[in-house]
Order: sequence, then structure tokens, then C-alpha cells
Amino acid sequence: MPIRATKRGDERGPLSGSYDVLICGASFAGLAVARELAGSGASVVILDRYEIGERQTSACGVPTEWLHVTGLIGAERQRFDSLVVHTPHGTTRLQLPWTFSTFDYRELCELLWRDCDASFETAKVNGRGATANGDGMIAVETDRGTVSSPLVVDALGWRRILASGDGYQPPDAPLSRGLEVHPDGESEDLEVWIDRRYVPAGYGWSFPARDELRIGIGSFDPRFHVRETTELLAEDLGRDRVRYQGNWIPHKLRRATEGGVFFVGDSAGHCLPLTAEGIRTALYFGIALGRELRGVVEGGQSREQAAAGYAAFHDEHEWKFRWMLRVQKLIPKVPPRLLAPLIRLLGIKRFVDWSFNHYLKIAPPELAAISAHDQQGPGQQQSHPDQSLRAERDLVEAE
Ligand SMILES: Cc1cc2nc3c(=O)[nH]c(=O)nc-3n(C[C@H](O)[C@H](O)[C@H](O)COP(=O)(O)OP(=O)(O)OC[C@H]3O[C@@H](n4cnc5c(N)ncnc54)[C@H](O)[C@@H]3O)c2cc1C
Repeated sequence: MPIRATKRGDERGPLSGSYDVLICGASFAGLAVARELAGSGASVVILDRYEIGERQTSACGVPTEWLHVTGLIGAERQRFDSLVVHTPHGTTRLQLPWTFSTFDYRELCELLWRDCDASFETAKVNGRGATANGDGMIAVETDRGTVSSPLVVDALGWRRILASGDGYQPPDAPLSRGLEVHPDGESEDLEVWIDRRYVPAGYGWSFPARDELRIGIGSFDPRFHVRETTELLAEDLGRDRVRYQGNWIPHKLRRATEGGVFFVGDSAGHCLPLTAEGIRTALYFGIALGRELRGVVEGGQSREQAAAGYAAFHDEHEWKFRWMLRVQKLIPKVPPRLLAPLIRLLGIKRFVDWSFNHYLKIAPPELAAISAHDQQGPGQQQSHPDQSLRAERDLVEAE
């Protein structure tokens, strides 16, 4: 795999030039876009400040089906068919209608990259450069120079570096806070804690990944500092507090396109508000965006048509994100003594199946299963998911 080591010091030569597609950010969203462009003949470059797979950005848990349909199952570490929910007044094991897996971040990124035919450069993206002479090219400034392209993707995470800058900053912006430790260890159970001892609004988790545990706290309230209680949870579980990983997590959708730039993954707010699950949505929207851009580089549509198609697809999901945000705000208001019986009640198999199946359909794996080669033309691949989205909204509202 042609990954160059991160260039440091004098080895960091100047970077310039123009490409058919410029993707900023080489994690889930950026690599998913690049992979959809493989074989299109377009010159595609991906920029990231780190090597591909160098810095893990999450606990790396996804529905197993997503690893299957994307051909990434080789990165799987452990699989779970139940979720153990702890509250101060009791513990419930929910039998899931589908399995959930943890995976190895580096391996997954390498698998995605293996299928790309893009080039990769390590560079820190600083922002948009001055756009020249109205030729439709967008300039992006990096610490190694300026690169330009008519098709620019911001997959850089919540900072949304290539946007105009709307003062979207924690703790005032709708961002959650997440921090975890990665001690060595094994466990059979995928566990979450809804317990104010750890976090007033949010939850704690332990995601086993074969020989490592990912133990963390996510707070929906950005003002609540999670370091102390992440350490407390690790301590309560008798685990070491080592190898910290944390970030802000968006819990509201933002615009899909702005100033000619396409935003995807956390930069577009694609992380699900209630669960902070943002990997499969980064892949999902990344695939959809990659297909739109493929339509452009293959000459089937203009950049503006791709922007309109992608924005429409993004907007179709807005009601689901809004709905989950409502539940996110509701849970902290439930009195703790009612939580345990409520979760037991919700643990009835029919309800668990119903809710988890709807949850999976927010970003259904079927989208990834439609191969780029099966498409009949740009934009057409979306007619199928859009129809199912509408049908599903009707169903949820009816239920
Ligand atoms: C503690 C924690 C645990 C989580 N666990 C899960 C989980 O188990 N399952 C799940 O689905 N979601 C989880 N999430 C959410 C998930 O991590 C994100 O939603 C997901 O990573 C978004 O993918 P992305 O590709 O959009 O962005 P990211 O994965 O954040 O990638 C952004 C990329 O951009 C690069 N970059 C950033 N700034 C620059 C710059 N200036 N110049 C160059 N490169 C830059 C970064 O190096 C990185 O490679 C978790 C989040 C946190 C904080």
C-alpha cells in the first residue's frame, strides 16, 4: 500500500498543483468519498495532517452489516448480539435484532485506502485560499502550499475548516464531548451506563475489541468535563487509565455544501445525536457524495447538479436527526429511579426489534450494497434510498 511516512522537518517539501478532486481528511468520510471515485479516471488527492490510519478517532463500533457490505469485515475485532445497559437502579441486557462490531481503526482505513486509486499527501489544511479568475477552481491552503480543484471535499471533522467560519465553537455550539481510555483487557459484553454519577446528560461505555477495551464518557452538555468521570468509570471497572482519545462530537446537521465546497461526516454534522454514532453515517454520506462527484468527473452532470443532488439527499435525513436530538434532550429529564423499569419495559423484544431496526435504517447498509457499477447514471442511485426514506418517515409517524 503506497502510504508515505508523515514527512517532518526538511522532508516536508512544497505542495501545489490542481486536481480533478481534492479531498481534505483521510478518515471514514474522506476515504469513503475517494473509494467511490476509484476507476473513474479522475485525478484525486487526499490530504491529512497524519498518515492514513495513524490517529484513531473513535471507539470504532459499528453495526456488523456495515462492515460486510463495505468489504471491511477484515478489520473486525469483536462481535456482540446484545447490549448491557446499566442504570443506578438495575441492569438490563437487550438482545439486539442485529449484531454490532468493534474494529481496528488502522486496518479499516488501510482497507478503504487499498481500494482507492487516489494520491495521498500529509499536510495540515489551514483554510480556503483566495479564489482566482472565476474558472471554478477552489484553492485550499495547507502548511505545504496551495492546492486547487473544482471539486473540493471537507471531511476534516467538526471544525469544518473550509467553511466561511460562523463562530461555531464549543461550548456554545451544539457539540457533545467524548473521551475514552484504551486499556488492555478482554470482555464479552458491550456495555453502556446511564448514570448521573458519570455524566448528567449522556452515557458511559465499554466497547471490548478482542485484547483492548475502549472505556469512555460522552456528554451531550459541552460544559460538562468528562475527564474525571472517564477515569472514574475505568477505575470502577478495575482498568488502567491509559491511551486517551477524545474529541468534540457534533449533534446537529450543518449545511451539506457551502461556497462550492462539499461537507461530509462530522464536518456536515452527520454524527447521530442520541448515540454519537458517526462512523457508518460518515461512510454512508461519503458514499453518496462520492457517487455524485463521480457523475461530475465522468461528464454526466455539473458540479451544481452534484451539489443539488447531495444537498437534497442530506436534507432528506434532517427529520431523523431532529427526532433523535429530541430523545437526547428528553433522557436526562427522566427521574433516575424510573430509568431502570423504563429500560426493562423498553427491553421487550418487540420494542427492541422495532426501535433498533428503525435506528439502523437511519443510514441503511443497503446504500453501500448498490455498487457504483450498477448505477444507471448520476443522481439515479438516490431515487431508491429517497423513496425508502419517505416510506420510513410515514411509518415512524404512523407508529
Ligand atoms: C471518544 C469518541 C468515541 C467515539 N466512538 C464512536 C463509535 O464507537 N462509533 C461511531 O460510529 N462513532 C463514534 N464516535 C464518533 C466518530 O468518531 C465520528 O463521528 C467519526 O470519526 C466521523 O468521521 P469523519 O471521517 O467525519 O471525521 P474524523 O474521523 O474525525 O476524521 C477527520 C480527519 O481529518 C483530519 N484533519 C482534521 N483537521 C485537519 C487539518 N487541519 N488538516 C489536515 N487534516 C485534518 C484528521 O486527522 C482526521 O483524519 C466517537 C467519537 C468520540 C469523540
